[in-house]
Amino acid sequence: MQLARTSAFAALGALVMLSACGGGATHLQANGVSVVLESSAPFAYAPDFDERLRSTIDVALQYWGGSWDEMNGRTLTLVDDSFVACHGTEALGCFDGNIRFTTRDPSLGTFPCVEATVLVHEIGHAVLGDPNHTDPRWMEMDAVAAELAGRTGYTDSGTTACTTYVSVWRHPLGSP
Ligand SMILES: [Zn+2]
Repeated sequence: MQLARTSAFAALGALVMLSACGGGATHLQANGVSVVLESSAPFAYAPDFDERLRSTIDVALQYWGGSWDEMNGRTLTLVDDSFVACHGTEALGCFDGNIRFTTRDPSLGTFPCVEATVLVHEIGHAVLGDPNHTDPRWMEMDAVAAELAGRTGYTDSGTTACTTYVSVWRHPLGSP
């Protein structure tokens, strides 16, 4: 589903179309980024969500050597499905000019926080392009984990640790 970023009609359409899956709200218009929730993950409805998203993007941009200019005009869509369609295959996240990513890891379950998702990986594509993952930083990411450590995660019943795994973010070099 493609949604226009700023159209009131698109926002209304999102609310109508997504009501069946419990989400459909646009946040974080600041910094030129729009966010569409097609997710029921508790973290996406926590009061600190916008700030956590902003700071996670900020850490990722610093890691990849980018700036908010690279995010300007992009839409981030968070989905409940464990995979998103991506260039003819399935992935945990996808960059095609906009970014879609799952909030539910196929083995770990629902991520407790946005930091743990593949968002920081997809921001790498927004900054670098590099669809074949040739930059060695795709297999590092420890600096990102260190920057994002110690934050709060959310469950249906309360809070938990926002544990991140670099294995979620890493990608073997030289493969799409
Ligand atoms: Zn990738």
